[in-house]
Amino acid sequence: MIELRNICKEYARGAEKLRILDDLTLEVERGDLVAIVGPSGSGKSTLMNTIGLLDVPTSGTYKLDGVSTEKMSDNQLAELRNKKIGFIFQQFNLLPRLTAIENVELPMIYSGVPAKKRRELALQMLELLGMGQRGHHKPSELSGGQQQRVAIARALAMSPALLLADEPTGALDSKTGIEVLELIKKLNEQGNTIVLITHDLHIAENARRVVSIRDGRIVSDVRNAPIPGAPAAELKAGVTV
Ligand code: ADP
Ligand code: MG
Repeated sequence: MIELRNICKEYARGAEKLRILDDLTLEVERGDLVAIVGPSGSGKSTLMNTIGLLDVPTSGTYKLDGVSTEKMSDNQLAELRNKKIGFIFQQFNLLPRLTAIENVELPMIYSGVPAKKRRELALQMLELLGMGQRGHHKPSELSGGQQQRVAIARALAMSPALLLADEPTGALDSKTGIEVLELIKKLNEQGNTIVLITHDLHIAENARRVVSIRDGRIVSDVRNAPIPGAPAAELKAGVTV
């Protein structure tokens, strides 16, 4: 589903060039649950933004679901992103003035889903996440865990092929964090492809595959559990680079 080849991302700082992603090559298969781990500043969020088409690499190629993204315009990238990718962030990123249900409806507004259908789907998503009774609450009236559930409902609203979560448990207490993690695992068991960014190794242990990055490079890549439905012969043993 994801094919990143020789990705570099550089920022200029004065005359100097900062290389944040350094010749990074990574493939992620459909149906997988991959954790990306690494210390703060190692490039995890930059990698997620690249996978999420929020950020364009300085060099290298990226195919999402077989589609090359290098030559796309900003509009084409936005369209592909809206169609294929759902995002979950550490700080939930809900709009404070909107109710839970209106937040979940937002991506459907961008995609032109008619109002009645939108409301119906948003309610369905909130119910799926155990938030059916909270649709008319504003984010400030919800706990952190509840806000993250709304954010996950929003991420799922357009049935994305790929779910990207950047430190989704980072702002939650450990009990609520585990609940959100269990939810993410369940979504994966139901067939969603998920890339989960975390600096918490206990969270990462729950992924099927754990990729560690340091200074913008992959330093290890270990498979813990098979992808459901994948033929056993194709499973690769954990490789440490
Ligand atoms: P992580 O998520 O692993 O903590 P990031 O991907 O957020 O790491 O950042 C990696 C490095 O890239 C950091 O040193 C950060 O300061 C730098 N960086 C990120 N975004 C920018 C930017 N827009 N301009 C300059 N430097 C950046
Ligand atoms: Mg980060």
